[in-house]
Amino acid sequence: MSHNRILNFSAGPAALPLPVLEQAQRELVSLPGIGMSVMEISHRSEAFKSVLNNAIDDIRKLANIPSSYKILMLQGGASLQFLMVPMNLLDGGSTTDYIDTGTWAKKAIKEAERVGEVNIAGTGKTEGYSLIPTQSELTLTPGAAYVHITSNNTVEGTQWSALPDVGDTPLVSDSSSDIFSKPIDIGRYDLIYAGAQKNLGPAGVTLVIINEDLLERCCDNLPTMLDYRTHASNDSLYNTPNTFGVYMLGLMVKWLRSLGGLSTIGKVNARKAAKLYKEIDRSGFYRPRASKKSRSLMNITFRLETEELEAMFVNEANAAGLKGLKGHRSVGGIRASIYNAFPEEGIDTLIEFMRGFEQRMG
Ligand SMILES: *Cc1c(COP(=O)(O)O)cnc(C)c1O
Repeated sequence: MSHNRILNFSAGPAALPLPVLEQAQRELVSLPGIGMSVMEISHRSEAFKSVLNNAIDDIRKLANIPSSYKILMLQGGASLQFLMVPMNLLDGGSTTDYIDTGTWAKKAIKEAERVGEVNIAGTGKTEGYSLIPTQSELTLTPGAAYVHITSNNTVEGTQWSALPDVGDTPLVSDSSSDIFSKPIDIGRYDLIYAGAQKNLGPAGVTLVIINEDLLERCCDNLPTMLDYRTHASNDSLYNTPNTFGVYMLGLMVKWLRSLGGLSTIGKVNARKAAKLYKEIDRSGFYRPRASKKSRSLMNITFRLETEELEAMFVNEANAAGLKGLKGHRSVGGIRASIYNAFPEEGIDTLIEFMRGFEQRMG
């Protein structure tokens, strides 16, 4: 079958692997052995339970996640986790540490402040969020309820290259835009959450990986749907989950495993980003936004000399079939989002386009 697919640099929902889309297409009308679409079956059926459980098993194998962590498939996006995390982990008397590394971190902080005392333990604000604070710049609160980071800053194009040392305090990460893009040491985290629509599948599923110890930490009388314990004790089937989204996420995780797992995709992603940054650094025509040591491997952000030039870049790229390169509306510039499913050859196509544009305009 032939497809007319363009190169999709969208920040999210983002590109999905073609083999995953093709499998979903083949199985859309009738799931093998079931005779109905995955969208038509009960979420309580054995067929759907096996879709869900296989997806969770594959995540455990992919990221080496022990049974002491619960893997939940929720709804409401990472944005609802901004509130669920403090509601579940922060009780009235305690303080939590948040590291303010940009747009999404600020949104997380805003919700936590509704619930309790938030200490901003580090910020990239004075540098326009072009870098991630270093360990010595952090002012962590002894005995904090948890430390919250945004592992990859989708808008600004920065990423934690190594996790902060938070001692015995639980580490919580919004990993929406770099989950499963490289190997992770799960033992360093107590809670990871991510909307699926960047690295893991379609919109509408939110992955939460939580150390069971945290489930009993605080907070009675939470609203049922906002209590992690509801979802943990019902294996993500308290109410109807996003059945199709869970199925797609399962295919995506299988695809990642078939490539060779996180070490393989990590190498591919590092190669993709290095190639593109090398091109950005080559001549000075393109101006990287993030400071070198904080550069994201997922969202590569850069500017041109003028906004007019940037607009021309985006328009000409669109016309050449390279879509989604316009930077986030709040920061402008150019952003190439190159998550797990973005093909390596697509980087070469972008570089070729960038050279041509520079020759015409430079
Ligand atoms: C996209 C994004 C979000 C928001 O995710 P929703 O699923 O739309 O709520 C939060 N955090 C980060 C880092 C993101 O990239």
